[in-house]
Amino acid sequence: MLLAGYFFATATPLLAQGIPQGSPSTPTSTSAIGDAAGLAREANVWLAQLIRIDTTNPPGNEAAAAKYVAGILEKEGITPEILEVMPGRSAVVARLRSSAISDPSRALLLVAHMDVVGVDRTRWSVEPFGAVIKDGYIYGRGALDDKSMLAANMAVIIGLKRANARLNRDVIFLATDDEEGGGDASIKTLIAKNWDKFAAGFAINEGGEVVMKGGKVQYIAVQASEKVSVSVAMVAKGPAGHASMPTKENAVVHLAAAVAKIGNYAAPVHFTAIVRRYFEGLAAISDDEIAKWMRSLDTADRGEHAQRVLSEANPQWGSMLRDSIAPTMLTAGVRPNVIPGEARAILNIRLLPGDTINVLLGELGKLVNDPQVRLEVQPNAGLAAPPSSLESEFYAAITKVATQEFAGAPVLPYQSPWATDSAQLRLHNVQAYGLWPFPITEEDLKRMHGDDERLPIASFNKGVDLLARIVSEFAVAR
Ligand SMILES: [Zn+2]
Repeated sequence: MLLAGYFFATATPLLAQGIPQGSPSTPTSTSAIGDAAGLAREANVWLAQLIRIDTTNPPGNEAAAAKYVAGILEKEGITPEILEVMPGRSAVVARLRSSAISDPSRALLLVAHMDVVGVDRTRWSVEPFGAVIKDGYIYGRGALDDKSMLAANMAVIIGLKRANARLNRDVIFLATDDEEGGGDASIKTLIAKNWDKFAAGFAINEGGEVVMKGGKVQYIAVQASEKVSVSVAMVAKGPAGHASMPTKENAVVHLAAAVAKIGNYAAPVHFTAIVRRYFEGLAAISDDEIAKWMRSLDTADRGEHAQRVLSEANPQWGSMLRDSIAPTMLTAGVRPNVIPGEARAILNIRLLPGDTINVLLGELGKLVNDPQVRLEVQPNAGLAAPPSSLESEFYAAITKVATQEFAGAPVLPYQSPWATDSAQLRLHNVQAYGLWPFPITEEDLKRMHGDDERLPIASFNKGVDLLARIVSEFAVAR
């Protein structure tokens, strides 16, 4: 009832604010969804409502979002199923069938997560869970990550259902929980308990982007692989005592020295096939100076310098080339006048697929070289997955549609520094690709997990259309 009241209170202002229509369709690719612009306008309201349901993880409370999503799908005659993973934490699955007997190996999975990361309210200029519309943007935690994709996936499955589209493979909708935590309520558990409900050969998820620069789409990065997140506690121990009589064994001092050494360390560069292809493609559309270094990355004489130049130019490029280590948390001490017996730091490590944590920890141990300091791998480490194929029919469909939609802008395979649910899917033989379909500038993208997260409403509408075209190209019979 409360939700229904919300809906009417907000729906009118949203529509009255002249939300831009989706771009006019180009004649080349086709969408099985008739009125994509009208559907995108409806999806604006779903996005706003989803932002207003606070799913900050922890604790997540995705059950409330799951109920909302399932309610919308149900009204359309799609039969959703809410899968409770833990009390208060649920996923939603729904399926459009292509035939009486499903062939999971052909099925296409549309994935998005419902949880969001926390906010520092003091740094936001608007209410983070208000879905405020300002200057053509929708603001709110989840506007980028990942409630926009969730609303777009809803629009696509609803559009296909309304159009009564003739499918050549099942299309499955999956809204996950605990993606940001990757813990016991995450897709790992869903796969272990409910795989038969969403088993698929192909998936589209967050993870790659349509990158805008100077008002036009520069390239489309399709995530086919991802780095692996592992958190490590670095623990220094020493004698506790009175702060009036310090010793050289102070745990805080030893921890600080170890953190400083790790902060200045760069792991060796390893190239994966996807990263090689990414930089080759990016060089072709970059200005001469930066392109020169992209082309020199893997050369014997200039490689090392090129790696340094590019890592400094863009931290994301640096992270694509090597295992990265970011100290993120520090804890020590209980009183100003007590030397603590222990000091801890958390290091968030992102391994290249193929690299192993023990090898890196061996290197870090040698670097720190301090018997008072030890390294402990923390729970919920990610798992390395094989990359998705760049030769699959789904990758070809994404490439075809995206290239047509954005006037020949290249599609580049992408290995994201961040982790997504796709790794778990790839471990189950799913050809999973990351493409968050909304055209976006690097500047706006930086607000993901940051302050004043926002998405241009015109980009959202365009993304709904793009996703509908990609799914139509791949899953609708002609
Ligand atoms: Zn996300």
